[in-house]
Amino acid sequence: MSDKTIIAWTTRTWNPWRGCTKISAGCKNCYMFTAQERYGRNPKEVVRTKTWGDPLKWQRLAAAAGETEMVFTCSWSDWFHADADEWRDEAWALVRRCPNLQFQILTKRSDRIEAHLPADWGEGYPNVWLGVSIESDEYTFRADELRDIPAAVRFISAEPLLNPLTSLNLTNIDWLIVGGESGPGWRPMDHAWAIELQEKCSASGTAFFFKQSAAPRTEMGIELNGKIAREFPIPRVVPQVA
Ligand code: SF4
Repeated sequence: MSDKTIIAWTTRTWNPWRGCTKISAGCKNCYMFTAQERYGRNPKEVVRTKTWGDPLKWQRLAAAAGETEMVFTCSWSDWFHADADEWRDEAWALVRRCPNLQFQILTKRSDRIEAHLPADWGEGYPNVWLGVSIESDEYTFRADELRDIPAAVRFISAEPLLNPLTSLNLTNIDWLIVGGESGPGWRPMDHAWAIELQEKCSASGTAFFFKQSAAPRTEMGIELNGKIAREFPIPRVVPQVA
């Protein structure tokens, strides 16, 4: 759960808690549910994990190498899930201590972001990118809830993309990841929907990352219009937290 990952837009995953509850259509085939049930665990129970030492270990390695590593948080949960409220301040404090790790915090609970940022958030922690998942047009309000929150990078993950995001407004959004669903029960994605989003990104100056087509396995069909389109955002400079 807390090691190198095959997710193409990050390097590591960190799950300070695991377990979640389904909130919208994109959750239908959530791989965490399948995996937890295979282990005989209740996937709806949010529990603290034993991975809290990992970020400091990765921080030491990254600092020694003079590198920055990307860390996707909560691939097996949601950072802003209400059942994790008692642990989040401690997790924020740990994030602050790891300047060589670039935390990518992605949520479907966009309505909870603002009220659950740390007290010293200010213009955003320099090492935190804040993102929301949007799988279909009825959830583009999540971008509206994100766009005015200060952050080094604001991003959207449109994966699994289930229909065209016709009403998506990319104002103040720095990065858009698009991907089809993969794994058992995968639902189709028309490349035309992704191309439309690529064009929107081009118009708004938003970095565009095409992860993959809808397919039985991850990383299948990574070209869009015959090309790999995998841009990363340039983080805005925010003051270091004192
Ligand atoms: S929010 Fe994410 S982790 Fe939670 S059920 Fe949905 S897909 Fe799974």
